[in-house]
Amino acid sequence: MDFRLTPEQRQLREAARRFAQAELPEVARRLEETNEPLPREMVKRYAELGFLGVNLPAEYGGHGLAHLDAVLVLEELAKVSSAVAFPMFESCFGPILAIAHFAPETLRRKLIPAVCAGETIVAVSMSEPGAGSALTDLTTHATVKADGVYLNGQKRWCSGAGHADGYLVYCRMSDDPGAKGIGAVYVEKGMPGLSFGKREQLMGFRGIPGADMSFDNVRVPPGNVVVPANGFRRLMEAFDLERCGNSTMCLGLAQGALDFVLDYVQQRRQFGKPVVEFQAVQIKLAEMATKVEAARLLIYQAVCNAAAGLPSIKESSIAKCFANEVAREVTGAAIQLMGGYGYSKEFPVERRFRDAWGWGIAGGTIDIQKINIASALIGRRFDQRK
Ligand SMILES: Cc1cc2nc3c(=O)[nH]c(=O)nc-3n(C[C@H](O)[C@H](O)[C@H](O)COP(=O)(O)OP(=O)(O)OC[C@H]3O[C@@H](n4cnc5c(N)ncnc54)[C@H](O)[C@@H]3O)c2cc1C
Repeated sequence: MDFRLTPEQRQLREAARRFAQAELPEVARRLEETNEPLPREMVKRYAELGFLGVNLPAEYGGHGLAHLDAVLVLEELAKVSSAVAFPMFESCFGPILAIAHFAPETLRRKLIPAVCAGETIVAVSMSEPGAGSALTDLTTHATVKADGVYLNGQKRWCSGAGHADGYLVYCRMSDDPGAKGIGAVYVEKGMPGLSFGKREQLMGFRGIPGADMSFDNVRVPPGNVVVPANGFRRLMEAFDLERCGNSTMCLGLAQGALDFVLDYVQQRRQFGKPVVEFQAVQIKLAEMATKVEAARLLIYQAVCNAAAGLPSIKESSIAKCFANEVAREVTGAAIQLMGGYGYSKEFPVERRFRDAWGWGIAGGTIDIQKINIASALIGRRFDQRK
């Protein structure tokens, strides 16, 4: 097995790294302070640099590269912060994937080029007050009528709510219970009847605005049905790739914290010498690096085995739950290695810990990934309701 990247991939990663390290740390600091999302001019800049839609089909304005290429770029941005990386995460691993794979041709032609150009941001709206891990309990309802699809219900936790231009909304599209009745429609921000709740105040994820969403008889054109009833399985297949993006955000957080602390322990002196001279510190650094490397390889495995398609639920869930846990452990260890300075907001390490915690809940909790993995190992789904 050849673990080496091609010269083109190394070049792509290098370009992303140079840009991210030179231009993004100050932006990340500002977003953290103000809790505002990345400015649109910067999203357009990402588009010009070729960071949006890296792995989306070239015929729709994407770059037609491999998912691995998108992982390489995303890690570099996520090393700086989740908030600066978020628009790229959405454009390569977000709901646009379900649109690229399953939406009617007209909708694909309308949305994918706009996403790749940085003109449109699409968020995903799945969770509800009563449907988190038990997503198939969702009750938001779409009624198909002659002049369109009418949407009613309430969504929760949508990252990007109020800021994104459009939303992939999971909803009940038939009277069938559970997964069977579920499909998804694309809803534009300005559609009458769509409103947003107050901005969520989270432990982390500053610069990634989230809110509740209410749908009061929102009329959606029939052409905006991305997946009709009985499409839950397909939505989850596209979501398997989202898990790899979530994992890469965690990889970036962990690698970013490790890079920072590597420098710090060589500068910080105690007992008359740099703290890196203490063997306990060296062992901690080695453990952190080993975990980060293992997380990276699991992500590479999931996306490389997917080729141009979608990864398996087993490999993407393994990558996600491992990277989620590694990000929490490594960012936590980085705080510890910096002592009081790690706990201070003056240094960009505690922020990575707070963000890392969120990624292990978003996109399905760590324990839910473990249930997915066990199901894949045994070869059947375990009914959580019995
Ligand atoms: C930062 C952040 C961003 C998010 N972004 C989005 C977004 O963009 N769009 C969106 O739709 N949603 C989003 N979410 C919602 C996220 O998907 C849900 O929070 C998540 O699926 C868990 O649902 P819940 O919060 O209702 O927890 P619950 O489902 O109530 O779970 C509570 C606890 O019970 C455990 N649990 C539940 N069921 C089981 C079971 N069967 N077996 C074992 N343990 C179980 C869980 O692991 C968890 O520890 C986001 C959440 C966060 C924190």
